[in-house]
Amino acid sequence: MSYNVNEKGYYGEFGGAFIPEMLYPNVETLRQQYLTIMEEPSFKEEFDQLLKDYVGRPSPLYFANRLSKKYNTKIYIKREDLNHTGAHKVNNTIGQILMAKRLGKKRIIAETGAGQHGVATATVCALMGMDCIVYMGEIDIARQAPNVARMKMLGAKVRPALSGSKTLKDATNEAIRDWINNPVDTHYIIGSAIGPHPYPDMVTRFQSVISEEIKWQLKEKEGKENPDYVIACLGGGSNAAGAFYHYLHEENVGLIAVEAAGKGINTGESAATSVLGKEGIIHGCKTLLMQTPDGQITEPYSISAGLDYPGVGPMHAHLYKSGRGEFISITDDEAMAAGLELTKLEGIIPAIESSHAFAVFEQRKFNPDDIVVINLSGRGDKDLQNYIDYFKL
Ligand SMILES: *Cc1c(COP(=O)(O)O)cnc(C)c1O
Repeated sequence: MSYNVNEKGYYGEFGGAFIPEMLYPNVETLRQQYLTIMEEPSFKEEFDQLLKDYVGRPSPLYFANRLSKKYNTKIYIKREDLNHTGAHKVNNTIGQILMAKRLGKKRIIAETGAGQHGVATATVCALMGMDCIVYMGEIDIARQAPNVARMKMLGAKVRPALSGSKTLKDATNEAIRDWINNPVDTHYIIGSAIGPHPYPDMVTRFQSVISEEIKWQLKEKEGKENPDYVIACLGGGSNAAGAFYHYLHEENVGLIAVEAAGKGINTGESAATSVLGKEGIIHGCKTLLMQTPDGQITEPYSISAGLDYPGVGPMHAHLYKSGRGEFISITDDEAMAAGLELTKLEGIIPAIESSHAFAVFEQRKFNPDDIVVINLSGRGDKDLQNYIDYFKL
């Protein structure tokens, strides 16, 4: 079985491009050109150079000694938290800003929920001197003031989405509306492995630098490229897609995707999309999403803003449906405890998204000689207030 996208833009039964006709020229141009552009030597050179000198790659693969002792297995942490801007998201925005330049675009739009993708986009727009408009729900603007300030400092315009629940999905609708109205000069930088084909594949390829590095780093440390397991948290699915990519067809490598159970799978306040989701169409692709019996998208909930998404990228829907991936859901409380534990044992404060992945060690046993690579998608600075409130620090 193949876990890569096919020529029609599908992963098994998931994916495709379900878009308004007005958007067709934009998406079609991108579809026709993205692979050719990504394979140009000058593109590769510029991408690699920026990842090295600007983002600070390669990110270390760190053997977590005390965590390994505690859980009696060999745990390596992939340190995406050490990237410029504090998470994996910048790998994708660097790639897409270079793509936009090659396509002759002058203006960048993006959607953002918690503001992490908005900041990563505003950052690369400052770097390249491009106009940047970030759509953000009015409620999120109020909740995420520091990231709004960062985007403004970086020169981006933050436009409030005033419709619906005034959160991420409404911001996405506004961004799509903008793109329809500005088809010629504008590129839309989507922030996860979601959206109409070719976005999920393009974003996955930009993020695949994560597993590309894990392979040679593990070879240096363990004498072999393949671990027994790779673990990553799952929002829309971009950090997991990048961490899994070069292992998708290595059947001896277990792929563990960790979703946010919020207050619990059956509480109605959750974001465990694969377990609770049904097939449907969201943001231009067919995938698993949380919906009411009559097909309305359910408002997701998680303590971590980055996992608070009602759908999951089509590649992950396929990994779930085919059984290639193992899907685990972790509650708010379990994630917070794991975040504090990583801090105490290793001196690393994780983003709450990433804390979900670390909570797997309490739920699932590994063998003493298993090599487990866990992707630390981001650092916890942005979540300090959440940690303070939760633990009454
Ligand atoms: C945005 C974000 C996520 C979730 O997004 P994916 O596309 O699923 O990777 C996870 N971790 C951090 C730190 C984030 O900022």
